[in-house]
Amino acid sequence: MLPADDGFRTDIDPQDAFQVFSHELRLETLYALWEASNYALSFSELQSAVEERDSGKFTYHLEQLTGHFVREDDSEYVLQYAGHRVIDAIQSGVFTASPTVEPTAAPGQCPHCDGTPTFEYDSHLATIACPECATKLIEYPFDPGGFQDRSPTEAIRTFDERTKHKWRLASGGTCFVCAGCVEVEYVDSPTEIDKHDRYEEYFAAGQPAILHLDCTHCSFYSFVPVGVRLLDSPAVLGRLASHGLDISTQYLWELPFVTDPATTTVQSRDPWHVEITVPTETGSLTVDLDHEATVESITESL
Ligand SMILES: [Zn+2]
Ligand SMILES: [Zn+2]
Repeated sequence: MLPADDGFRTDIDPQDAFQVFSHELRLETLYALWEASNYALSFSELQSAVEERDSGKFTYHLEQLTGHFVREDDSEYVLQYAGHRVIDAIQSGVFTASPTVEPTAAPGQCPHCDGTPTFEYDSHLATIACPECATKLIEYPFDPGGFQDRSPTEAIRTFDERTKHKWRLASGGTCFVCAGCVEVEYVDSPTEIDKHDRYEEYFAAGQPAILHLDCTHCSFYSFVPVGVRLLDSPAVLGRLASHGLDISTQYLWELPFVTDPATTTVQSRDPWHVEITVPTETGSLTVDLDHEATVESITESL
């Protein structure tokens, strides 16, 4: 059972909950309800949809789902939120597919040399790199579902949108995987990164400091550039937009405060205080972040 000391009580043992994956008839039942109108079917409709003639066997498996994944409502069985989430996890493709994408031209420009970046996908990891100046600009996991019904360019745009969204949410303290609390702390980049094999060729290793994000509830953890916090500040975004730097039209890999280590300066480590300087066409915008990585002040120099 999950520990109860974090204020989280489970109604069902996780082992029991995952029994939903133990028999194909259970998943077929969830999928049949997903495809039905209003996500609901009568017993006979459901039995016919999964093509199981043995009523006893079908009743047994349906009972295992009823309560948490499926609700019995009058004469119908209705797919519940938990049932939707099982289908969503499967449809994301993470458990069932590991496609690869060879380096292909990505939209936007390399912020270092104005070259054309490339997008590459392997082992659920998407990488945006610039072959012209041999720089890895951004790297982050992406679900195979992102390629479904999209052209390669559309998938790359989706990777940008989704990664921005995830980084904003998690660096603001909310886990996008489980909705739990994410601890956000500054760490010295090379020292901390060396401890994690997964970050061996980390794109932000050259930054003087990065943010370690660690969910207190699930297994999610991540390291992101400190500049990501600027994406969550309407005041900063407003100032940047007035200088032509619009994050809704520019890709993550085009933002200097995300990809350029020179924009980040550690002012102090005890307590932590970090300054991000974003060049503008007339001067620069300096953003101070406090010990909790929250925007403290914005200074504009012409
Ligand atoms: Zn470049
Ligand atoms: Zn979490």
